[in-house]
Amino acid sequence: MKVMKFGGTSVGRPERMHHIAGLVTKEKEPAIVVLSALSGTTNALVEIGELIAKGDRTGARQAIEKLEAHYQAFIAELVKKPEATAKAKAVVAEHFEFLHIILRISFSEALSKDILAQGELLSTKLFCVYLEEQGISHLLLPALEFMTIDHYDEPQIGSIKVKLNQWLKKHKGTSLFITQGYICRNARGEVDNLKRGGSDYSASLIAAAIQASVCEIWTDIDGMHNNDPRVVKKTVPVEQMSFDEAAELAYFGAKILHPASIWPAQQYNIPVKLLNTMQPEAKGTTITEEAGSVGVKAVAAKDDITAIRIKSSRMLLAYGFLRKIFEVFEKYRTPIDMITTSEVAVSLTIDNTTHLKEILKELEPFGTVEIDENQTIISVVGNQIARTEDMVKKLFGSIMNIPVRMVSYGGSPHNISLLVPATCKTQILQQLNRGMFGLE
Ligand code: ADP
Ligand code: ASP
Ligand code: MG
Repeated sequence: MKVMKFGGTSVGRPERMHHIAGLVTKEKEPAIVVLSALSGTTNALVEIGELIAKGDRTGARQAIEKLEAHYQAFIAELVKKPEATAKAKAVVAEHFEFLHIILRISFSEALSKDILAQGELLSTKLFCVYLEEQGISHLLLPALEFMTIDHYDEPQIGSIKVKLNQWLKKHKGTSLFITQGYICRNARGEVDNLKRGGSDYSASLIAAAIQASVCEIWTDIDGMHNNDPRVVKKTVPVEQMSFDEAAELAYFGAKILHPASIWPAQQYNIPVKLLNTMQPEAKGTTITEEAGSVGVKAVAAKDDITAIRIKSSRMLLAYGFLRKIFEVFEKYRTPIDMITTSEVAVSLTIDNTTHLKEILKELEPFGTVEIDENQTIISVVGNQIARTEDMVKKLFGSIMNIPVRMVSYGGSPHNISLLVPATCKTQILQQLNRGMFGLE
């Protein structure tokens, strides 16, 4: 059995849904199809939640009505037969009625998650209505029945596995399952989600749970490119990369994959394929244990980074000092991305600034604390690059004019990371494209 995940743009137009119905039925192998919300929907739901949270109910109502009109137009093109049209209308009515009810009750964090879940609930139900109209046998698997996270928002892979396999066993004769990406239940049993872009994570968790033959991530581009195509003009797809390389790129900003989406597949050794819905015959990227080749594969940029420098004359070689610093970050559950040390100072970076104030206060007793906001981590990733002298030369040779704030080298043989001011991001990505890949 395989997993096929389709992102927002892959389901975002009626004709795209028609097209993916063809893709999911093309091969004989049974499949679990994971769908995102139609493109734009989650953003709209975020906005609706924010408007309700700040008490702007008129604004929220208008945003709900605008989104509903979009869905009315969508279903008019999606299905044609009267019975299917009635069903699609009922789906849209049900979910928008829910949003209108929410307008009338007092707002809470849990409620905002309920709002966000409507996108994937709508896309999967509408796709099922279309499949039914086409006479394609399938079953809707409700993600809220099996996808769960614990108190720390970590997926409970053991329980996901048990519950999902029970569902599959109960429906042995079925070879096409449709389920929602992104949404899940939290430890309190409330509707929650796997954070923005989380459908990739859902797909990988499901693939791991059912020991799938492959986890296919279908999107709007032909695989992982060597550089960020949103920033750099000429980029090329990478045919083969290892789980380690893909995990680094995803974590350090390659938007094509959710930052955490590689570990489940890696842990259960499920190949991941990144494929283009609009160009299904393109090779895309295959991610397995094997890197395929040595050398640089891609660069990625992670935005909104804050650097913190702790300077102490008494420090640093004293043992136990770093532990004390790390404990502060642990206490506030704030991951550190990069770290460098010198005799008198430690610099580190975080991207989650929720508890920055408290962290800075607790760091004060250790010395002078300075912060630099609006930084970007640029990660250069490739099998063994840190061990390839030529690569290191090329890398630094091509960015001599960039004011690099930190360098992380040697943490992993597959990654060299640089911290630069956000204002330099475009320039550095372009220069690396030229210097490391020979692409203008
Ligand atoms: P989906 O809605 O299918 O999940 P996303 O928008 O989340 O799609 O991810 C695909 C997008 O990721 C691409 O359209 C591209 O702009 C962006 N992207 C950023 N970095 C890369 C990269 N290195 N390779 C490919 N795509 C990338
Ligand atoms: N719909 C969610 C989002 O836009 C999840 C996803 O598309 O992966 O973030
Ligand atoms: Mg995505």
